[in-house]
Amino acid sequence: MAAPLQHKVLLTEDEMPTRWYNVLHDLPTPPPPVLHPGTGQPVGPDDLAPLFPMDLILQEVSGEQYVDIPEEVLDVYRLWRPSPLFRAHRLEQALGTPARIYYKYEGVSPAGSHKPNTAVPQAFYNLKAGIRKLTTETGAGQWGTALAFACAQFGMECEVWQVRASYDQKPYRRMMIETFGGRVHPSPSDLTNAGRAILAEHPDSTGSLGIAISEAVEVAAQNADTNYALGSVLNHVLLHQTIIGEEALLQLAKVGETPDLLVGCTGGGSNFGGLAFPFLREKWAGRMSPVVRAVEPAACPSLTQGTYAYDFGDTAGMTPLMKMHTLGHDFIPDPIHAGGLRYHGMSPLISHLYEEGELEAIAKTQSECFAAGVLFARTEGNVPAPEPTHALAAAIEEALRCKESGEEKVILTALCGHGHLDLPAYDAYLSGAMSDREWTDADQAAVAEALTKLPAVSQ
Ligand SMILES: *Cc1c(COP(=O)(O)O)cnc(C)c1O
Repeated sequence: MAAPLQHKVLLTEDEMPTRWYNVLHDLPTPPPPVLHPGTGQPVGPDDLAPLFPMDLILQEVSGEQYVDIPEEVLDVYRLWRPSPLFRAHRLEQALGTPARIYYKYEGVSPAGSHKPNTAVPQAFYNLKAGIRKLTTETGAGQWGTALAFACAQFGMECEVWQVRASYDQKPYRRMMIETFGGRVHPSPSDLTNAGRAILAEHPDSTGSLGIAISEAVEVAAQNADTNYALGSVLNHVLLHQTIIGEEALLQLAKVGETPDLLVGCTGGGSNFGGLAFPFLREKWAGRMSPVVRAVEPAACPSLTQGTYAYDFGDTAGMTPLMKMHTLGHDFIPDPIHAGGLRYHGMSPLISHLYEEGELEAIAKTQSECFAAGVLFARTEGNVPAPEPTHALAAAIEEALRCKESGEEKVILTALCGHGHLDLPAYDAYLSGAMSDREWTDADQAAVAEALTKLPAVSQ
């Protein structure tokens, strides 16, 4: 009888990495600074102090190669980490490919995605700085769920402004946030000036992430014991997510593999950066040479169609200016099911690496992605969140190329969340009700127009 197939590569709790990797240390060229919108000058720690604790502000700009993960954070991580690495034997067989496909599964976390990897340290550093409460925004609800869980671990309060449309249509995430002890308000709300101003003009507003950010930031800025937390895009968020890539490196080494291709889905870039950065370090050190490929939705293609320019992180224009690939901060993407990928900009770190030619990017329509998600569910037995189906579609595309060429490539991806609360999206796909949106010349013209309205700072 043939030897049994090994599906999972596991690490013990003792083997879990105890440091995050800071890619800033090893970048071939430094990224452009974050600018103050009023002065056009680089922001300093004091500009950020009303919203973030000093430990996180320092991580945002740190040049240290590694940051020790605090004991208290490691202790919470051990509830679900190290996460498993799977070899997708059954998917490979269904495709008839000689490629070997591995996926790092982050759906085992309490929130069902990679987001607690940063929510937990963010809550911890805030508590350490004497903060009692965190505010945030959430769209579909994944980030709100992760932050509510993290706050519960440290006895902190969590207040979440959830975009009204999702609050009404996707009640399960709200219930999960409340189960973890968080409070959820539909946004726009009458609790903030920002919310009241919108409601006065549009009483039936269904909200947007930009409005919800404005409400959460307003409450944090006004209360000394309250800070704001962001779930993607920023350097410290990507730093915390490198635990994914560090574990995957150890796991692949256990089975004697080095990847030829990394693929990941990109919304703000945090799960992709978290997987890819430790592998980029190994590549720059000459120990491996994987191609690293980001996959974004065709309906919100910030890397492949956006411009590399200074832009705001939010719709209202309240944040500092970050140089990033952007579709313009007032761009409203189509309401595709991969809610976590509907962001107008891309992490400055990912954008910079893309400009430097260290990363590739492609865009995929949601039907192709859901087809990949359904194939994956039927072979591997795991229903992925809509976001990582983008990465799976790209992995499958490459595996089919390998079938043509006979190449035995090793493909690695992050399966960054499960889709158990996204089943209506699968229902839409399976019943033929899903529409696709290609990027058009008119979209491109609208983005070019929006970008002419950006603040005049040195581009
Ligand atoms: C939030 C989220 C994303 C998008 O965020 P990134 O910062 O790009 O990782 C992707 N997948 C899932 C499951 C998410 O919850």
